[in-house]
Amino acid sequence: MQGKQGGFTASVNAMYDKAVGLMDLSPGLVEKIRVCNATYTVRFGVRLRGEIHTFTGYRSVHSEHMEPVKGGIRFSLAVNQDEVEALAALMTFKCALAETPFGGSKGGLCIDPNAWDAHELEQITRRFAYELIKRDLISPAQNVPAPDMGTGEREMAWIADQYKRMKTTDINGNACVTGKPLNSGGIAGRVEATGRGVQYALQEFFRHPEDKGKAGLSGTLDGKRVIVQGLGNVGYHAAKFLSEEDGALITGVIERDGAIYSEAGLHVDAVQAHIRQTGGVQGFPGATYTADGAALLEAECDILIPAALEGVIHEKNAVNVQAPLIIEAANGPVTAEANDILLAKGCVIIPDLYANAGGVTVSYFEWVKNLSHIRFGRMERRAEEARHQRLVDELERLSANTAVPWKLSDTFKRDYLRGAGELELVRSGLDDTMRGAYRAMREVWHDRGDVHDLRTAGFVVAISRIASSYQAKGL
Ligand code: GLU
Repeated sequence: MQGKQGGFTASVNAMYDKAVGLMDLSPGLVEKIRVCNATYTVRFGVRLRGEIHTFTGYRSVHSEHMEPVKGGIRFSLAVNQDEVEALAALMTFKCALAETPFGGSKGGLCIDPNAWDAHELEQITRRFAYELIKRDLISPAQNVPAPDMGTGEREMAWIADQYKRMKTTDINGNACVTGKPLNSGGIAGRVEATGRGVQYALQEFFRHPEDKGKAGLSGTLDGKRVIVQGLGNVGYHAAKFLSEEDGALITGVIERDGAIYSEAGLHVDAVQAHIRQTGGVQGFPGATYTADGAALLEAECDILIPAALEGVIHEKNAVNVQAPLIIEAANGPVTAEANDILLAKGCVIIPDLYANAGGVTVSYFEWVKNLSHIRFGRMERRAEEARHQRLVDELERLSANTAVPWKLSDTFKRDYLRGAGELELVRSGLDDTMRGAYRAMREVWHDRGDVHDLRTAGFVVAISRIASSYQAKGL
């Protein structure tokens, strides 16, 4: 939305320019990495409700230094070329930072998904997919979409099925899209992945006293007051895990119809159930409601999680934001101008290209699973359990021969003996990715005197990896 020259792409470019300004790259390479390689616009008609409706969709490919290119497809009336290009660029940097071996892409269909019933949406989605598949803009080897705003497992299953109908001999057809339902080639833990990644990102941040100190915070996540904007898939899972597993207090939730606040902390599942029943947060028992939802972005809290739209913290409200720590669960929630204002105030921002990389990371695992045609853990799980059982048996045998025999507790045995299934492996791989990417970013943040914020550090890491990959190709 807003940026230095008023656009989302301009905002991403401003952040990119700030980072490359600190790097020693040739101007030609700087330009090559910045520009969006191609954007395909399609207008297609679908006969629905007795007449032909024309829809406009996009698939933008930002960088092909690695293939396939990767990124979601969103369904929203706000979709436009500037938006998909900015989001595609963010995918390039996100994939490089998270070490998922993809270039960056993004798609969008200009549609209000709530205006159509499921059967109509299926026809529209299949038609859009058809247009992209026949141009290799959906393909396991070249371009692999995923869910984004307004899309989910259902749409991904339609896209995968459409691909397989058109490419009947492609044995890797399932890998043409990620975020599919588990029973149609999906992977355990993909739905929760982006929110889970936000939780792992915050856990990692809180492991570093120096870093939380920069935000004026100390201790653990336990008791920290959190305001979340958007209780969609990402915001819901982040808020749920942070409150249920880390003891954080979700003091505020901002939704389309306004915001609710409670010092004591909101029960995330109860709020979500209320939204499902009533269409909004208004009337949620035990909380204060305000119709001006955006006002809560400026309320006092320890952590602010914008998990909805881009451009929600801009040059007008940034100065009023009180949160000392912002974690960008959405893509581009803080504009380039707002970013500068917040940094000048001492706010620490955990940037989108890192914070919401959990989704594409687990998409990567799903793509690998699809190409290997086997569920993670299937070969080793029982062997691992048998080995653990041998150790436990041996320890118990040894203990029986000691003067004071001891026993391993039943809970220890239960947890230790269980071999890792797919969900545990996915979470482990995601946690490892989030820790590794954070460490790469913070090294640049702390070691280089000229990098003063995590976003610039993240861009520097990502851009240098992309640059090496272009250089290796001889460009
Ligand atoms: N749409 C998500 C994002 O913006 C996920 C992309 C993917 O899994 O490819 O990161």
